[in-house]
Amino acid sequence: MPTLVSHPDEVKIISRRFGAGAADIDKYLEMDGYKAVQMAIEKGAEWVINEMKASGLRGRGGAGFPTGLKWSFVPKQSEKPKYVLVNGDESEPGTCKDHVIFLHDPHSVIEGTMIAGLAIGAKMGFIYLRGEYRYLLKVVEKAVADAYAKGFLGKNIFGKEGVDFDIVTQTGAGAYEVGEESALMESLEGKRGVPRIKPPFPAVVGLYGGPTVINNAETIASAPHILLMGGEPYAKVGSERNGGTRLFGISGHVERPGVYELPMGYNLKKAIYEVAGGVKGGRKLKAVVPGGSSCPVLKADELDVGLDFDQMGKAGTMLGSGGIVVLDETVSMVEFALRTIKFYQHESCGWCIPCREGTDWLKKTLTRFYNGYGNKKDIANIQYLAENMMGRTFCPLGDAAAMPTLGFIKKFREEFEEYLEGHRTEKALITTEELI
Ligand code: NAD
Repeated sequence: MPTLVSHPDEVKIISRRFGAGAADIDKYLEMDGYKAVQMAIEKGAEWVINEMKASGLRGRGGAGFPTGLKWSFVPKQSEKPKYVLVNGDESEPGTCKDHVIFLHDPHSVIEGTMIAGLAIGAKMGFIYLRGEYRYLLKVVEKAVADAYAKGFLGKNIFGKEGVDFDIVTQTGAGAYEVGEESALMESLEGKRGVPRIKPPFPAVVGLYGGPTVINNAETIASAPHILLMGGEPYAKVGSERNGGTRLFGISGHVERPGVYELPMGYNLKKAIYEVAGGVKGGRKLKAVVPGGSSCPVLKADELDVGLDFDQMGKAGTMLGSGGIVVLDETVSMVEFALRTIKFYQHESCGWCIPCREGTDWLKKTLTRFYNGYGNKKDIANIQYLAENMMGRTFCPLGDAAAMPTLGFIKKFREEFEEYLEGHRTEKALITTEELI
């Protein structure tokens, strides 16, 4: 989808350099680049953490944990080295915002990593890109090399004696699971990418056993802007307890799909109908997945809600990773539910049984259903399976599969029932043979 889009309601903070050639370090410098990190060196770790706390920035990966608070959890003294790890394993279906940052403004990720490092006392950062973003690696690696060449990375950065910071880049191999922070650390350490038990949280025991700040790429890239603007002015742009702006990827059946930067709390209905131009071809809107595939679906009459972590929670769904997927009246919700679960079944790492078996049974049941062989008990079975996965898995992948499934049945039960009466799409999406 076209990523460089624009709308007058946008507040361009994190996207202000998009399309300006800022992947080039000299252009980045012209546009206030590497000023924030020098401010951080001058003013110190406590100032940085206070500004981050004042900004109200909450984790843009999807969980919405307050960033300043996370940084403050890292112990000041540690026998093991501390690290910053940038989670660029953006894999949630419908989400494509970090991609745009890496492509258009990679130095903001590098600068944000350095700022996080200064705040927690780390001398090393890792930028981990999802396997499918391998083509972005050369953009990021060039940016890192240019920063080293200017003396912004390495020893005595910016000519400051004793201030050192190194960055290493790494790609995954295409596993969704590795986006989960503890699986990400396992993968980076060269092991199979499966989750660790939490607690301990990475802030205390993380990469190679050392205290580690893991943040999503957008979260990290927001840090330089926050220091330049000041935490409080940044917070004021957003809504209560949800500071600043966020990149929203609006896709599916809309006239102008793309990644838009909107203030936190912006109305979802306006985002779809005004910012993204409304439903494609003037068709009727049926449903919206508001924040990536793990978020429970909203119906057309439930869209008058603010796009922030709290308001979306009150609406019975989640803000998630900012991937808004719009579905028009032509979509079969049974097919959509099956497509969604097929993804999670394929991506389950198999480490724990409720997720491995639960996603598999959900896929099998939904496939049978979709192909016209469902029976009345199947609807209850799907609910039973999904409910029994919730909260019973090592990592959130089980919940991420169960939550939308329960939402589809709760909100579109009549469509599932219609399939029992023989109404089904002509062409089967997944054949029974595929299950074997
Ligand atoms: P979480 O709520 O368990 O944790 C969020 C962050 O806060 C983590 O970094 C965690 O270490 C930290 N944290 C929480 N409590 C802490 C404590 N007491 N002390 C120190 N640190 C603490 O959520 P999660 O499992 O990391 O992420 C789930 C989210 O991921 C979902 O909401 C989903 O939207 C999102 N997600 C995003 C993508 C993507 O591609 N961006 C993909 C899948 C899922």
